[in-house]
Amino acid sequence: MSGKAYLVGAGPGRADLITVRGLNLLRQADVVLYDWLIAPQLLSEVSTEAEMVFVGKAHDKHTLEQDSITDLLVAHVQAGKQVVRLKGGDPSVFGHAGEEAAALAAAKLPYEIVPGVSSALAAPAYAGIPLTYRGLATGFAVVTGHEASDSNSPTDWEALARIPTLVVLMGLHRAERVCGALLAAGREATTPIAVISRATTSDQQTLLATLGTLAEMLRERTPPTPAILVIGAVAAMAQELAWFDPSAAPDGFAAFE
Ligand code: SAH
Repeated sequence: MSGKAYLVGAGPGRADLITVRGLNLLRQADVVLYDWLIAPQLLSEVSTEAEMVFVGKAHDKHTLEQDSITDLLVAHVQAGKQVVRLKGGDPSVFGHAGEEAAALAAAKLPYEIVPGVSSALAAPAYAGIPLTYRGLATGFAVVTGHEASDSNSPTDWEALARIPTLVVLMGLHRAERVCGALLAAGREATTPIAVISRATTSDQQTLLATLGTLAEMLRERTPPTPAILVIGAVAAMAQELAWFDPSAAPDGFAAFE
């Protein structure tokens, strides 16, 4: 049988937020390459005959490891395997689906991208924060906070300061700089901000602050990772609309730390 790669989104944390197609492919896979933001329950769906490879990377270890993950993916598909590359959230949202698809295309190997529920959407939903809301927010943007520490940042914070709702991934460690950049670009200090940690899992928690107060709050306590920031008027709606009870949810990411 000829090999094929499936770049599958696993969803944001809890196992049952994977798509039906993603789960079916996971059950049929010969090889599964998975990383650290995956619900442990999902891995128990993989066939006992399949090869499972943890290619996890936490935080800042990027480029080199990504190259070797891509090489591994290509090698298994060339060997005729059905390979699932299982990624947290959606594979195309800071998930390197582009790099992996490019390598597969260059090697003339077939692949499919199976979208997943990104934490960018799931974390606000589980915290009771609508990303758009009539009269408050006509749109949103999803950005990485990773570049905020770089003075030559390619991120246009002036433009982002005008987006009603801003969702920042990989932003917790750079939160002070993100807030500083938005304040410098003219966003009000009273703008609500929510830090949502470990969304959709039994460890979910939300910290509410404003652009002006977050840095000081973070000096007192650091919320757990992974976490996203939601910045904009809608963030304050979590106070009224939070609905999720983490104590009733299945276990989170603990198994992979
Ligand atoms: N492809 C993933 C994002 C990978 S980048 C997606 O679509 O969700 C990793 C970042 O995602 C983390 O630094 C964090 O900002 C965010 N993240 C992933 N899972 C999360 C979760 N359950 N709760 C909060 N943030 C999460």
